[in-house]
Amino acid sequence: MPKIISTGYTVFIENNIAAEINSFLKSANGNYSGIFILVDENSLRYCYPRLVEQIDYFKDAELIEIESGEESKSIEVCAHIWSTLSEFGADRRSLFVNLGGGVISDLGGFIASTFKRGINYINIPTTLLAQVDASIGGKTGIDLNHLKNEVGVFSTPSAVFIDPAFLQTLDKRQLLSGYAEVIKHALIADQPSWKKLSRTKPGLSSLSGEMIASSVEIKNRVVRQDPDEEGIRKVLNFGHTIGHAIESYSLRLNPSNPLLHGEAIAAGMVCESYLSHKACGLQESELEEITGYLLKTFKKVPLKNMDKKELTALMKHDKKNEKGGINFSLLSAIGRCEINNVIKTEVIAEALDYYVQKVL
Ligand code: NAD
Repeated sequence: MPKIISTGYTVFIENNIAAEINSFLKSANGNYSGIFILVDENSLRYCYPRLVEQIDYFKDAELIEIESGEESKSIEVCAHIWSTLSEFGADRRSLFVNLGGGVISDLGGFIASTFKRGINYINIPTTLLAQVDASIGGKTGIDLNHLKNEVGVFSTPSAVFIDPAFLQTLDKRQLLSGYAEVIKHALIADQPSWKKLSRTKPGLSSLSGEMIASSVEIKNRVVRQDPDEEGIRKVLNFGHTIGHAIESYSLRLNPSNPLLHGEAIAAGMVCESYLSHKACGLQESELEEITGYLLKTFKKVPLKNMDKKELTALMKHDKKNEKGGINFSLLSAIGRCEINNVIKTEVIAEALDYYVQKVL
């Protein structure tokens, strides 16, 4: 399977990833003074044993375990891990390893990038969402006051190691959450992949290493053109302006059992496809095609019960916004995305209503 070259690091995609990790650590030739592996209870249980069995360098590593879930992307958990690193005597030549889903790579990447002004880190993503999206592209961060990714830095890993076999223990709901990003990548940049995906029932059996690689390639292509999100990288936010607002809302309302990232993004993509039709030239037939597929594939989000004013206020926090307007990345057609569409709040409200009508 391919090695994908990103902005100063390589993404390895392999069925037995331990061999690649071993040779990466060997080539560092003792340059690392210590290895610290961040896990949650699930990556510890399902992924760590397979790796430690085959990677000698991991046998002496210190394990740092946090509780799974979005609530761990907090400043309190950061402070706890920074302190743990200090207690263990981590120094600037330490290597930090993020073994887990997007929560681990967002949080761990932020911790590594700030501890002693930055130490090297690698990502070993173990959910579909982290493999095709969160572990690639160098966005790291935590939530603050229920606002998603409010604090963070751009900082790239030294390498990313993807093993599709890790997905075998992932539950169906989590797998689908990752599918939302696979679908987004197709919608913004790859019409043939959309055609293929929209005809397939999503699940472990329909998911191949090639499909993961092609999704990673789309994200990587965009990130390489614009690593700091000054322009074209904003296409990756299709579905996310409304999606993140829904996710933040759900996190505030139900912190211990919020909607999953992909579930919120799928609803966001329905709403933003509506905006794409209204403001960016997406044809009605394509709007129907996208909406039909997303609604039959993903859990229905109780948007009807969400306060529109609060959702719009949350959208105003989106990092793409400038000068008070709400800025969207929208589809002009399936496979083509345009950035910097400023949309009025009345039209955003219509898009939320569109979703509510469709799920009735
Ligand atoms: P997650 O990290 O919470 O993982 C989901 C669940 O799967 C957790 O319970 C976890 O313990 C479990 N898990 C992980 N690997 C497993 C395995 N192999 N087998 C069984 N269970 C396993 O969530 P996620 O969906 O991976 O990531 C969501 C996060 O990613 C959000 O915080 C989102 O904001 C972030 N994200 C970041 C970017 C980025 O560019 N930085 C992009 C997209 C999403």
